[in-house]
Amino acid sequence: MDEFRYVSYAQEVIFASGALARLGEAVERFCWQRLMLCTNHSLRANGHVDKVESILGTRLVAVFDHVQPHVQDIQVTEVLALAMQNNADAVIGMGGGSPIGMAKATGIALEEQRTGNPAQAAFPTDQPLVPIIAIPTTYAGSEMTPVYGITHSKESPPRKVTVNDPKIPPKLVIYDPELTLNLPPEMTASTGTNALAHCIEALYSKTRNPLSTATATSGAQHIFNALLRCYEHGDELEARTEMLLGAHLAGLSLASVSMGLHHGLCHVLGGSASFPHGIANSVILPHAIRFNADETAPLLLPAAEAMGVPVNRINPMVAVEAMVQKIYHLIGQMNLPQHLQDAGVGLREDDLPNLAQLAVQNRTVQNNPKPITDPSQIEQLLMDAW
Ligand code: NAD
Repeated sequence: MDEFRYVSYAQEVIFASGALARLGEAVERFCWQRLMLCTNHSLRANGHVDKVESILGTRLVAVFDHVQPHVQDIQVTEVLALAMQNNADAVIGMGGGSPIGMAKATGIALEEQRTGNPAQAAFPTDQPLVPIIAIPTTYAGSEMTPVYGITHSKESPPRKVTVNDPKIPPKLVIYDPELTLNLPPEMTASTGTNALAHCIEALYSKTRNPLSTATATSGAQHIFNALLRCYEHGDELEARTEMLLGAHLAGLSLASVSMGLHHGLCHVLGGSASFPHGIANSVILPHAIRFNADETAPLLLPAAEAMGVPVNRINPMVAVEAMVQKIYHLIGQMNLPQHLQDAGVGLREDDLPNLAQLAVQNRTVQNNPKPITDPSQIEQLLMDAW
């Protein structure tokens, strides 16, 4: 790594067991007066929304508690209208990547409405007019990044488009492991695998830098230590804390690099074949690592070592294959689907060529460290994953 460039973001991150209680004092410090909350039903059902309502009192002017997966454009319009009616000055996303993505999309749309201009940052250090606050309760990592995906629902098939802008990263991130104690085992497993995938793709990213490599290596180690424990014993605060730390480091690595084939393909499967994001991750990750291994194996050795592969005296390709086996085994132990056909989303084998066509046009796929020039390369990977 002889040269590098990356953008980092002004964010306050609070990580502690019970950290949600600090939301009130943080909001006061930032002088936010009229907050809106984007979340979904399960967070309402398990009492987390009640806690935010009681902490913020009259400062919480609106709650949208039925965010659907993958940020649907129709819902963004609805949430924007609610934010405008209530004159919101900051938007909270609490939950997984979808409510946090919805908060990001709403914050940017609100800025555009208020200024009448595109919200795009002119400089990497431009600050947003409408700040976003993230309270993650899964391991997806969106809270740290300058990105959200939005699904254009009227296209056939619907298409998920990524928006990337330095104004997007949440200004305040509250990590409270206690909020993850009731994350169901399947969501624990799938979003945890998503976090592991961020570490892997950050390590071999074309835009990797010293910070992303350090955070991805440490993130992979914490995730590998803690994920199975969280899956098997979801109420263990110590395991949940280590896993959330791993997810934070994974999100931080994701924030400063471009992803590749794995990430782009998961977006295509999510946007165009209705795959839950974490399930797409668990099926695709071993195949994406193998696809790239002949060009990226030496870069993945820190992750392989963090997962207990003795990397010193073996060929990097052999070490990476041993890591793939460990990941595959972990995914199996967590009862996640290991094949596309087992994901239960109604995908048919004859849909694969079309998905490969969409994937090859995906900007993130085009950033893959190993060049992808032909849809047949992706079609073969999808067949292997079928
Ligand atoms: P999600 O937000 O779509 O859904 C998570 C599910 O878990 C929901 O049903 C929710 O109700 C439930 N849940 C969340 N926390 C819970 C808790 N504590 N207890 C009980 N249930 C809980 O899933 P996700 O995998 O977190 O996010 C995926 C979305 O985020 C995708 O659209 C993906 O593209 C996006 N994403 C974006 C980034 C980014 O950088 N912008 C990063 C990762 C993922």
